[in-house]
Amino acid sequence: MTETQGGMAVVFDRELTKASSAPEAFDVIVIGAGQSGLAMGHRLAQSDVQFVILEALSAVGDVWRRRYDGLTLFTPRTMSALPGLALDGERDGYATREEFGSYLESYARRFNLPVYLDHRVVALEQHGERTFFVRCGNGRTFTAPSVIVATGPFQVPKIPAMAADAPNIGHLIAETFRAAAIRDRSRVLVVGDGASGRDIAAGLSRDHETFLATGKPRKMLPERVFGRSVWQWLRVFGMLSATRKSPIGRFMARADPFPHRGNALKDLARMGVRIRPRLTGLDRSSASFADGSNQQVDVVIWAVGYRNDYSWIRFEMDQGEGSEPVPGLFVIGRPWQFGRRSSLIAGAEPDSNIVSQAVLARHRHQISRHQGADHKHALNRKVS
Ligand SMILES: Cc1cc2nc3c(=O)[nH]c(=O)nc-3n(C[C@H](O)[C@H](O)[C@H](O)COP(=O)(O)OP(=O)(O)OC[C@H]3O[C@@H](n4cnc5c(N)ncnc54)[C@H](O)[C@@H]3O)c2cc1C
Repeated sequence: MTETQGGMAVVFDRELTKASSAPEAFDVIVIGAGQSGLAMGHRLAQSDVQFVILEALSAVGDVWRRRYDGLTLFTPRTMSALPGLALDGERDGYATREEFGSYLESYARRFNLPVYLDHRVVALEQHGERTFFVRCGNGRTFTAPSVIVATGPFQVPKIPAMAADAPNIGHLIAETFRAAAIRDRSRVLVVGDGASGRDIAAGLSRDHETFLATGKPRKMLPERVFGRSVWQWLRVFGMLSATRKSPIGRFMARADPFPHRGNALKDLARMGVRIRPRLTGLDRSSASFADGSNQQVDVVIWAVGYRNDYSWIRFEMDQGEGSEPVPGLFVIGRPWQFGRRSSLIAGAEPDSNIVSQAVLARHRHQISRHQGADHKHALNRKVS
């Protein structure tokens, strides 16, 4: 469907939801319209390849809008833009989740990217050596010789098995946490002291008795150094681009430093958050911690990270490394794919540049192979 909005043609396609018998053929299929998929789309739009971006959700940017209440980006606007379009607003300030969601949406519109919304890919198969077959939950099917998986570095929130030991406690996940889901004056335990866990604990401390279960000691950075965001310094000194195997990369992966932005443990304690060590167990309505202490709680919010879900990819692929785990199947936005930057917004520009070059090289190679085959075929016909 092509709509016209504000004089601009947009090719968001949310109506084609009926099963179609013949698969639609493209040169390249991008799966996922987050920052990685859109940055790839921007690069591909500058070439002659026919491509489509398949997105599971109903609007570009919803992946951000669905994230937890009160989320603001932890990177400043200068470090939060995709190739070709700046993020409006105070350069050193932080965008809200809604603002960044709208930015992604306007990015897709600005570059007229062919995003098919409500197209969750439920199966990706390999048909022969040179064709991928994609099936969406709405019944539509697609084929292409190249596919780019851009489904995100943080896919399925982890919930430890111990959650099942506490049926009397409410369980929420940080990813989609909504403050309204918690009754007034509840005792809330946030598990995980990464950026999300700390943000949520800080927000809850105003209205609830809030506990934060911490993990390994975190390396916290100041928000600004010599008047510039610490993220800019990390980029200038090459710390976001160092590979995981390099000494700097190993340090970054181990320490996983992030700016505290007023959420250092001592700041949280001042707000009234009660800091606890690692959570070791739950029973029906209480939590126990590594120092032997216990606490009655009403709600637990899990903020302990994510796992990948590539169960819809119906062939063997290396889930850990590389940009082309199978010939013709490309990945972008994996944690540490090219460095720490790869799971940051700032990584979308350089990473999409590298991956698009590989995709286009394969595309050109295939065209020349086809032309070579046609040429040979024609010669053979002449000879016979
Ligand atoms: C809470 C949180 C805050 C963050 N804040 C920052 C920040 O401030 N700055 C920063 O640089 N980074 C931040 N990040 C890290 C990173 O930038 C984000 O995770 C970002 O969303 C990754 O972009 P992506 O495009 O690779 O993946 P995603 O944004 O996850 O996009 C993937 C897209 O693929 C779609 N999709 C998934 N599966 C399918 C399927 N089977 N079929 C079709 N579509 C599918 C999803 O709906 C989604 O739209 C944050 C991460 C989290 C979790």
